[in-house]
Amino acid sequence: MSVPDRRICVQVVLRGSNPRGLTHTHYTDLVQVRRAYKFRAYPTRPQEGRAVRLLADHCDLYNAALMERREAWQMRQARVSYRMQSAQLTEIRKADPDGQGRHSFTAQQQTLRRLDAVFTAFFDRVSAARKSRANTKPGYPRFKPYQRFSQARFVNGDGAKWVAAGRHEWARASFQAVGSVKVRQHRMVPGTVKALQLKREHRRWYVIVIAETEPVPEPATGRAVGVDLGVARFLTTSDGEVVGNPRFLSASAEVIVDLQRRKARARPGSGNRKRLRRALARQWRKVRNRRRDFHHKTARTLVGSCDVIALEQLNTAGMTRRPAPEPDPGTPGGFLTNQGAAKAGLNKSILDAGWSQFRSILAGKAESAGRRVVLVNPAGTSITCHQCGQRCARPQQDTVICPVHGAMDADVNAAKNIFTRAGLGSGQAASAA
Ligand SMILES: [Zn+2]
Repeated sequence: MSVPDRRICVQVVLRGSNPRGLTHTHYTDLVQVRRAYKFRAYPTRPQEGRAVRLLADHCDLYNAALMERREAWQMRQARVSYRMQSAQLTEIRKADPDGQGRHSFTAQQQTLRRLDAVFTAFFDRVSAARKSRANTKPGYPRFKPYQRFSQARFVNGDGAKWVAAGRHEWARASFQAVGSVKVRQHRMVPGTVKALQLKREHRRWYVIVIAETEPVPEPATGRAVGVDLGVARFLTTSDGEVVGNPRFLSASAEVIVDLQRRKARARPGSGNRKRLRRALARQWRKVRNRRRDFHHKTARTLVGSCDVIALEQLNTAGMTRRPAPEPDPGTPGGFLTNQGAAKAGLNKSILDAGWSQFRSILAGKAESAGRRVVLVNPAGTSITCHQCGQRCARPQQDTVICPVHGAMDADVNAAKNIFTRAGLGSGQAASAA
């Protein structure tokens, strides 16, 4: 692969972040628990310039590595591995001492790993689509434009260093080729700091501190549940507990739709449009923060009251078949004209974005508490009767009707199927798994 000094960036619209589904089920097997803490960083002007340059260099590396994989595939149907690309780093750095050569070697490896993860997810989607015989073609990984390449990851103690905040003092995160950046550390970071991520979000900078701690097992509760995540309600458990969607989500959706509409009308390049774009970004940030808090709270309650939690496995092939485009504060324009449809699509994207985050938060908390999370095959959980396994009718979104057992709450029925599939009870539906 060859990294250009400065490539003319390819302007593509990337889909929203696509966090990988959970792949392992027995969190109790793991010895260490990894946690991430996000803090706002305040680089000086010169530091900010260097940080922008660092991200651009990492972006070049990422795109060059992508190009190599792409060509190998197109010309020889060959796969290029992370190891093969990592082995070229020394050469690349030597050839470009004032560019790639200035950066942390291990951080560059992290960027190549990140691309590797993108490809693994891509090949997973390809095989999932082949299996489901769906008529969709998973999108090939794309080049990243500079403005969308927003973070680099460093190994703590190798090209980056974390110094926690003392009394009345700022915390400091130093990065090779950037310098020692001031960080507002608003909470303690327990355990050993393993990695640091430097991240840009619009005009703000953040440092994400990744630390490892020993898990602290909590006392057993004797409760195991199947959990159904839904659109109308946030979650429903197999023993009938319901957690609704917080009202702030739909309230924010209205504000966002309104801002989107006003922005679409504003003249391109005008100050008004710029202001509206910032207001939109602010609203999205608010939604993300409040949603994350809600997820933490909900996951905390669940982990506190259950020993085993069963969930559906994420259907990544299905997730990419999104009916409405995902609105993004970073992408100008491109929203539906019909207001009702816009709002429906927006609501969906707000809720959708929630599930995978909730799962990973839940997995993290379960891991540190020594709880078990079991993932089950999601096929047919919502339409199969949990008592007899027969296919139910679904006249309304919230009700299913079994030919033998009659009408039932659709979400509770789904949660009970998930419970059974996880091997947590005995029932007919287990055979459907
Ligand atoms: Zn039945």
